[in-house]
Amino acid sequence: MKCLGIESTAHTLGLGVVTEKKVLENIKVSYTTKEGGMIPSKTADFLVAQLPDLFSKLKKSPDCRLQTADLIAFSQGPGMGHSLRIGAFLARALSLKLNIPLIGVNHCVAHLEIGKLVTSAKDPVLLYTSGANTQVIAFEGGKYRIFGETLDMGVGNFLDAFARALNLGFPGGPKIEKLAIGGKYIKLPYVVKGMDVSFGGILTNLKQKIKTHSNNALAFSCQETVFAMLLEVAERAMAHTGKQELLLGGGVACNKRFQEMAKIMCKERKAKLFAPENSLLVDNGAMIAYHGLMEYKKGKRMKLKDTFIRPDWRTDQ
Ligand code: AMP
Ligand code: MG
Repeated sequence: MKCLGIESTAHTLGLGVVTEKKVLENIKVSYTTKEGGMIPSKTADFLVAQLPDLFSKLKKSPDCRLQTADLIAFSQGPGMGHSLRIGAFLARALSLKLNIPLIGVNHCVAHLEIGKLVTSAKDPVLLYTSGANTQVIAFEGGKYRIFGETLDMGVGNFLDAFARALNLGFPGGPKIEKLAIGGKYIKLPYVVKGMDVSFGGILTNLKQKIKTHSNNALAFSCQETVFAMLLEVAERAMAHTGKQELLLGGGVACNKRFQEMAKIMCKERKAKLFAPENSLLVDNGAMIAYHGLMEYKKGKRMKLKDTFIRPDWRTDQ
């Protein structure tokens, strides 16, 4: 079977084509701003404007012609309503036009499942660190469960907000990564509450230090602190579940220092670390296609009337 997946939970519009065995196509466009941040309605306008171009790129690869798809999958949630509606509407329209079934999938779970397709991970704990989402997820006791998560913003949004305070533009994560190279460590609040993490207080603290410390030191210390927090809860989830594999997912996992710290943690507990290539770490259509295809093969079916968006859809639902 061949599935076309549509991703549009936030600033990215992605189209992916997959079979049960591999990714055939995975293209995307992402909204960026010079001043930092994104306004949902403007983001949505941008994504709509990109649709014709993105589809024309898709057509160039013969395996991926729309007419050859057997199934359409789309991100049904969680995410920003403005963006989600674009993908859902498109999926419904294509399903009707091509007369093939459509299926809405959970974006967070899709990050976990694509990792299993493209790495040799079998039963991992997923440390999912993206713009809006930060969760430690695993399949345990017959369902996907959240073992720890952010109590306020996602770690990507935190990095973006800090970058905005430094006038670095959006997305800020990659800019902070560059800025952090060779930095000196300054003590920052370290906020782990049980299995959860929180970034709001650290952001305030960082902003207060902008006048008195170098951007280099702040970026470095910011990364060391929040990555350690994330890996602490991920490690505890691995200990709790007895799982020996850690899978990374989400845009923040593109960060080389984060991957290095994750590797050290896994090595210390004799576990394996898996990180898909960057194009499959960030939001993308291939993961939506693959997760949709797996669900379809397991028997999930959806009627058009059930394809409303679910902006608050929880991983454990
Ligand atoms: P996603 O929502 O999964 O597409 O991820 C987007 C988020 O990943 C944004 O908040 C980016 O700032 C962040 N991000 C992307 N690349 C990096 C990087 N190299 N280091 C840290 N954060 C990053
Ligand atoms: Mg994501």
